[in-house]
Amino acid sequence: MHHFFVKPEQIVKEQGRKTVCIDGPDFHHASQVLRIRPGEELLISDGTGKDYRCRVVAVENEEMLTYVLHEEEERELPASLILYQSLVKGEKMEWIIQKAVELGVSRIVPVVSENTIVKLEKKKEESRLQRWQAIAQSAAKQSKRSKIPEIGQVLTLKEALCEAGRCDIRLFAYEHEEGMSRTVKELEKTGAGKEIAVFIGPEGGYSPKEAELARECGFSPVSLGKRILRAETAGLALLSVLMLKLECEKEKIYRE
Ligand code: SAH
Repeated sequence: MHHFFVKPEQIVKEQGRKTVCIDGPDFHHASQVLRIRPGEELLISDGTGKDYRCRVVAVENEEMLTYVLHEEEERELPASLILYQSLVKGEKMEWIIQKAVELGVSRIVPVVSENTIVKLEKKKEESRLQRWQAIAQSAAKQSKRSKIPEIGQVLTLKEALCEAGRCDIRLFAYEHEEGMSRTVKELEKTGAGKEIAVFIGPEGGYSPKEAELARECGFSPVSLGKRILRAETAGLALLSVLMLKLECEKEKIYRE
């Protein structure tokens, strides 16, 4: 079934029934490229977490009119996951964004840290952010998410630590941290309704000074085990654990 994102105000209640109108570039894509015709069913998300199964009733005047058949069950994780990812080389960053969106992140914030190898020029930043946002949107569509995760502005590590200070759980993955007890303790605190920040360093890793700064900002650096994972593996490993825990909790079958 084809999946479209619309703005919440495009879901309109008319004479006791909900309708959604697809227009603009999406109309063109739906009618010309996908050749969607009246009678077909679509999945439409309003971007805030609500999904609707709709039936196309008319395709005319540059608009595709659909009726809502029913509201679908919420597909989003019951907590919000924010990935603060230090910049890594081009394709890897794109891959991380795509996979993190599949795993359920709400937001991804690119971070410049001490050992960041890639230099993102100021004038290229805007176009890069737009490209990353487009990758997030298509990954959200592909994985049938109800929300399109937002790609935040590029921050320095210090700014990112400050911003994430308001999160309930703050996981700073540090490759030189030893022992898993703190990791377990932090993971135990996660749960529905929480805001969870995940910090992952660049290819060159975090410096001891940066780990110290994280501690000063109230973060407890956590280990992901005795093996050094590549930057693109580390975030996904941690996000996968969080996703499964939250998904099980959503079905209320999680036991400590
Ligand atoms: N080049 C560094 C490794 C960087 S790994 C070195 O050889 O030491 C990139 C990032 O992934 C790290 O900064 C950290 O955030 C995360 N990471 C990788 N392995 C980890 C581990 N075992 N425990 C915690 N974090 C890890």
